[in-house]
Amino acid sequence: MTELERKQDRAPIPADWTYAPAPESRDIVRLRERYGLFVGGEWVEPKETYTTIDPAHEEPLAEVGQATDEEVQAAVQAAREAYDNGWSALPGSERAKYLFRIARILQERSREFAVLESLNGGKPIKESRDVDLPLAAAHFFYYAGWADKLEYAFPNRTPKPLGVAGQVIPWNFPLLMLAWKIAPALAAGNTVVLKPAETTPLSALHFCDVLRQAELPPGVVNIVTGDGRTGAAIVKSDVDKIAFTGSTDVGKAIQRELAGSGKKLTLELGGKAANVIFDDAALDQAVEGIVNGIYFNQGHVCCAGSRLLVQESVYEDVIDKLKRRLTTLRVGDPLDKNTDVGAINSAQQLEKIEELVESGKEEGAAIYQPPCRLPEKGYWFVPTVFTDVAQSYRIAQEEIFGPVLSVLTFRTPDEAVEKANNTPYGLSAGVWTEKGSRILSMAQRLRAGVIWANTYNRFDPTSPFGGYKESGFGREGGLHGLEPYLDFE
Ligand code: NDP
Repeated sequence: MTELERKQDRAPIPADWTYAPAPESRDIVRLRERYGLFVGGEWVEPKETYTTIDPAHEEPLAEVGQATDEEVQAAVQAAREAYDNGWSALPGSERAKYLFRIARILQERSREFAVLESLNGGKPIKESRDVDLPLAAAHFFYYAGWADKLEYAFPNRTPKPLGVAGQVIPWNFPLLMLAWKIAPALAAGNTVVLKPAETTPLSALHFCDVLRQAELPPGVVNIVTGDGRTGAAIVKSDVDKIAFTGSTDVGKAIQRELAGSGKKLTLELGGKAANVIFDDAALDQAVEGIVNGIYFNQGHVCCAGSRLLVQESVYEDVIDKLKRRLTTLRVGDPLDKNTDVGAINSAQQLEKIEELVESGKEEGAAIYQPPCRLPEKGYWFVPTVFTDVAQSYRIAQEEIFGPVLSVLTFRTPDEAVEKANNTPYGLSAGVWTEKGSRILSMAQRLRAGVIWANTYNRFDPTSPFGGYKESGFGREGGLHGLEPYLDFE
């Protein structure tokens, strides 16, 4: 026996090949027991509070404010004063400095924010670490660059800020949505009152420390927390613009409320995106794209590829590969670096997913769920695929906003386009094919604001994002994202 063989003989043989836990430390985030409302650069004690929890363990994290109408008005007043008393007149290059500072501080503190985002929202740490935080910082960097170049961005027009922007955001990407809203608003010279979602207020509240660290003048950004009533109070308040991301129902209610008021409005609402796989696509890559399209962030993504359209000739192959891939997804502790699918954001959202999945079974679709042991506490849902789905089924029509995929088939490109566009939404779509010409032709015919080709769920601050039809109007990202925060003479 050689020396090497002797050593090999002594090497321990692993008993089984499952992953060992790789938890990220939660000690890096110092949470307060209680948060106030951030108004005029100060923490203001709220009249009412509620407890925000960790959806993976159903454990309380902190007490936060439930802002009343008067408290919202005070925040709008603070934003108005900051706008009138300096911010709107500040040279763009000075505004840019603050935005660059915020971006850099977010980068420096990204691990801390990533842990917080996973704790309060339930998303896997590898997503908050590798997607949410880098993109949030990138948005501030990108719009910092435009702050002193607005007249070049919109030549032959004279851009002017609007005043105070009221911003209401959802719980699926709390810090990233905050960045999408605040960065262009400030770059354009507006001040802001922002409400994070009821279930995920902590990263926005923690972000107030970043604002202080960046020495942003008081009142330029105000954060008020609370449920839908606080959102409604912002919409009714004396702001000049509302930017909303969330459900189509609430978006419609806001549009009705603002009709005739002269206030500007952008709505980024729901989606039921088609992810279209042609038979000439690289199928293994396409399967990765399908998984990323629907199981990323537990499917809590407005542009999720929740309707899979597969060309009939490769249907069996794609479904076999997909089911095999699903058995390798790790569902569990959001703070474990190996986790692919984390916790569902709230008990209400879990109930909604369960109800729609039941409807899919009752209507006659075939369900597949890989073997999967879920944690005992917290809100969880096994990654799910429905086949034998008809276009009329609720699971093919309604936004489930969970890790649930509905699979349909097609024979020709025309049929694919017809089925893909057969939805009240029009936010995003995916196309998988080797042919460049087919990508271009599909992109022209699909009625969606964003179309990914041979990839899915890719975001970049320079690219506009937004929808058609019931997915809303207005764009975020790129120059298009600046325009809704400006008036032109
Ligand atoms: P909502 O549209 O209710 O929430 C989005 C934001 O609006 C939250 O901050 C919410 O506060 C606030 N809000 C609620 N009611 C009002 C109101 N009347 N006026 C102003 N603001 C209001 O979405 P939900 O969280 O209830 O989710 C329901 C469904 O919406 C999901 O199942 C999903 O299908 C879809 N959705 C789509 C999103 C997208 O990005 N397209 C994002 C989130 C949800 P609060 O958090 O307190 O309710």
